Amino acid sequence: MDIGATRADLSRLPVWAAGVLALVCGAILAFSGWSEWETRNNELRNAEIELGNLARSLTQHVEDTFELADSLLRGVVTALERDEGKPDRIERLQSFLTARKATLGRIRGIFAYDETGAWLATTEDVNLANYNNADRDYFVHHRVSADRSLLIARPVQSKSSGQWVITLSRRWNRGDGRFGGVVLATIEVAYFSQFYRKFDVGQLGTISLANRDGSVLADNADPDPQMLGRPILETIPYHPTSGTLHFRRLGEPSERLGFYQHAQRYPFFILTTRLEADVLAAWKRDALVRLAVLVGLIALVVAIGIFLVKQLLQRQQLAAALAAKEVNFRLLAEGSSDIVTRIELDECIGYVSPSTMRVLGWHPSQLLGKRALSGVNPLDRPQLQEILDQLRKGVVDEARATYRMRRRDKSEIWVEATIRATRRPDGELDGFVAVTRDVTQQKTLQGRLETLAIEDGLTGLANRRRFDERLLEEWGRAYRDKTSLALLMIDIDHFKAFNDTYGHPAGDECLHTVAGILADEAQRSADMAARYGGEEFAILLPNTDAGGCARLGERIRRALHAARITHEHNPPGIVTASIGGAICRPGFERSAGPASLVEAADRALYAAKDGGRDRVVLAGEVIDLPSSNAPATVPA
Ligand code: GH3
Ligand code: MG
Ligand code: MG
Repeated sequence: MDIGATRADLSRLPVWAAGVLALVCGAILAFSGWSEWETRNNELRNAEIELGNLARSLTQHVEDTFELADSLLRGVVTALERDEGKPDRIERLQSFLTARKATLGRIRGIFAYDETGAWLATTEDVNLANYNNADRDYFVHHRVSADRSLLIARPVQSKSSGQWVITLSRRWNRGDGRFGGVVLATIEVAYFSQFYRKFDVGQLGTISLANRDGSVLADNADPDPQMLGRPILETIPYHPTSGTLHFRRLGEPSERLGFYQHAQRYPFFILTTRLEADVLAAWKRDALVRLAVLVGLIALVVAIGIFLVKQLLQRQQLAAALAAKEVNFRLLAEGSSDIVTRIELDECIGYVSPSTMRVLGWHPSQLLGKRALSGVNPLDRPQLQEILDQLRKGVVDEARATYRMRRRDKSEIWVEATIRATRRPDGELDGFVAVTRDVTQQKTLQGRLETLAIEDGLTGLANRRRFDERLLEEWGRAYRDKTSLALLMIDIDHFKAFNDTYGHPAGDECLHTVAGILADEAQRSADMAARYGGEEFAILLPNTDAGGCARLGERIRRALHAARITHEHNPPGIVTASIGGAICRPGFERSAGPASLVEAADRALYAAKDGGRDRVVLAGEVIDLPSSNAPATVPA
């Protein structure tokens, strides 16, 4: 695996994560934008359908109303033309109209004028002589035009009632075809206005009834003389007979949505409109709430995303730092000549550094999973087990031990280990780390130094220091055990002369030989021969009585004779020694301690010298000495 590439992939991960997050948020926003746009268009479509339905049914309503009025007009025209010449025709017409008055319904009134505009009959309860309608547009139109179809003219203010009314009129002819006059039906503008106001088209919605030339006949606003008769639209659509419109009126905040419907039978159309802003107001309000919620959710997702990306970055940095640490650790552990060992809680090896190869002859992989103490000398294992137990219990955090380990080639080396307990951040023990080094050389050197410290270099016997130590020990032991302790002091006779005669190296040689004899004679394991100083020796004899002491002294003296080392300036002609002995029982006697034993032996030695040399003298004892005829004693 290419580690470099993996690292690069890792470092690009947060960028990818951020990218995907942005993409998802963008997609959600785009989708809800599209969905909101669809909802908006649906709202407009629904409004269009509603406006269309309303326009169609209102057109029907106006047609029915006009139909009613027109049928009355036709009846009046027929009556006037049929009854021409009859003297009572006006009275009959008036009584017909008076009779119909109660059933007029939505029709305000019916009027009949002659060719001068004078009122002939009406459903209104007024004095006919007071009025003349020759000035009205519709009157002028009918007089001038021979067209006999129904005329719907601009709304006018009624002369009889003062209200704004829509006029429907027809021309009636005399028998010879000349203009006879006009019959007129009026419907109050207010009737339509009130009726239209019953329909909900929103605050600014409009319902208008317009003449085919586009002038307003009535709308859902209060009748406004300014508006009535004005063109409702700049251009009036005639084809098709119905359709949707989008237009903008001056000073309005948004476009208008409209639907127009032309009537089939009469020259008018209905226009219903709503302000788009009004149609979309509810949608807009809800969409804003939805948008706010969505933006809030996206902000939350983005915040969480940023948090996660940050975490990711942090983890990456941590991983990089850890990797660097790991590299450093490996450099240290694997470059070190010491063995670094990771011991798991089950006391098996979890990691061991490569220096095991050099120190123990084992490859690290051969040691993994093995018990950490398996290569340790069985004699040292309890000590190490104890250390591990103490570390485990937390009695100590670190411990040192020196012990023996077997190498792969079965040879044994001394190692020194520092073992530490390792803990997790929560303080729980998770294993041990041991740093072990080969100390075989130091151990050997130390042994040598120890020997040097207690051994006399020339003779190989214990030195004076060792003698003093042992003397103290044995004194204590004899005191405790209530046994006896004996000491022999041996001094070579006329040794200065030996040196002078044969030279110092020969003197050394002689000392070596004498030491050998002493070592041979001190046979019991507890006995200890030492070089006391110069050509003076001492033999410490634990648990030995006077007899034993004297016998050993004599054996030494004889052994020296038997060695026959030439010494021409010593009367016997060979090397001899004077020997002083002393014994004590520290458990029974009051004395000044070990020093008194040495002093007593020393005194005996001087007595032996004084007595003629080459003899054994025991302090405080009378011993029969075969070499000299006089018994040798010294005061104890
Ligand atoms: P005495 O019979 O009274 O003991 O006479 P002596 O000559 O043995 O006694 P003295 O104490 O006068 O002399 C001891 C001599 O031992 C002096 C010294 O040169 C010699 N000597 C002491 N230590 C060594 C040593 O390590 N090597 C050699 N070659 N000679 C030593
Ligand atoms: Mg001496
Ligand atoms: Mg001497």
